[in-house]
Amino acid sequence: MADERDLPTAHQGTMAVWAGEEQYLMQGATQVPVVHSVSFGYRDLDEWYEVALGQRAGHIYGRNTNPTVQVLEEKLRLLEGAEAATSFSTGMAAISSTLFTLLSPGDRVVSIKDTYGGTSKIFLEFLPRFQIDVALCDTGDFDAIEREVAKGCKILYLETPTNPTLKVLDLPRLISCAHRHGALAIVDNTFATPVNQSPLSMGADLVVHSATKFLGGHADALGGLLCGRKDLVAEVYHFREINGATLHPEAAYLILRGLKTLSLRVKQQNQSALRIARFLEAHPEIDEVFYPGLESHPHHDVAARQMRGFGGVMSFSLRGGFDAVRAFLPKLRFAHLAANLGCVETVAGPPRTTSHVELTEEGRASLGIPESLVRYSVGIEETEDLIADLDQALRGAAEVRRSGKSVASR
Ligand SMILES: *Cc1c(COP(=O)(O)O)cnc(C)c1O
Repeated sequence: MADERDLPTAHQGTMAVWAGEEQYLMQGATQVPVVHSVSFGYRDLDEWYEVALGQRAGHIYGRNTNPTVQVLEEKLRLLEGAEAATSFSTGMAAISSTLFTLLSPGDRVVSIKDTYGGTSKIFLEFLPRFQIDVALCDTGDFDAIEREVAKGCKILYLETPTNPTLKVLDLPRLISCAHRHGALAIVDNTFATPVNQSPLSMGADLVVHSATKFLGGHADALGGLLCGRKDLVAEVYHFREINGATLHPEAAYLILRGLKTLSLRVKQQNQSALRIARFLEAHPEIDEVFYPGLESHPHHDVAARQMRGFGGVMSFSLRGGFDAVRAFLPKLRFAHLAANLGCVETVAGPPRTTSHVELTEEGRASLGIPESLVRYSVGIEETEDLIADLDQALRGAAEVRRSGKSVASR
């Protein structure tokens, strides 16, 4: 676990490169070492004892702490402006460890219907088994969320922007509501990243991340991070060191390396996504575009108040239903068709067969997810190339539709 040392003084793009590394560099190395050692030896038993008690800096055993992992925690702590940070093997390990640490039987959580699929499973499948009551509200209905919080709860768990329709929650309003009623406010900041949004500065107690997405940015390492109030992070760290969802030092290194370009990547993705969203909004083959940077987005004002950029993820629905999606997606040249987001390559996929595959058509409709929706995570390719690629794929799909050919049945 990393906790407060030097305060951030530089801009985020600079901190992403330099923060947290200096004291870990060895023998003149300019890069952080990947320390594979599982245990750390001491010939001085008094020193060993003090490190074991946490009274002196150092490492004992890799399930608890590791130098490479600690640099990553420290860098994210500084980027989020947090008192403390700790890490996990995956984003879901960060989220589940946090919820299982802070909740006890008889407690109540309030959240939204649009949380990430895994998080929603924790709420609907696992927490109720421990007699923890969960209330999931309509994501856009801030009044309803406030009413549920007012009934009493231990945690208000928020995620914004959401997957896949990019709804945006009013963070200052909902966080202050949580605090008025004695609840903790936790925010999943995966989609926004610390470049675009700082929930802790809006009063959140904790921020969780899937480092697998934008933070790592290269789709080659799984990881999770938690940062925020020191006392709470320490409690969750203790749960994790015992329960064992530790981040591997090799993965920590890959995420750390990815983080160096976080600010560059996200700024490019913000710009590109906005231009692509505008292009799609005007395209005859597109029904609707969901992107908080568009003035037509129902939460555009909220997003503009609390975000520095609108992010790299959008979704859009095609004319012609799921058949159109079936024709369109394979025609994209510059997009992996995969269940991932936030990496340097553009990634596209239909929520109907990925994140929301287990729901019925009615279930998806109740979340405002059209059957012909495509989620599109903009990579760092040149914007013109992505626009041209989308255009040719949309034209191709339209031709298939007009010719009345049905693309292989489901
Ligand atoms: C991917 C994701 C997670 C889960 O992260 P993993 O690293 O896959 O466990 C949690 N929240 C959001 C918003 C995500 O996109």
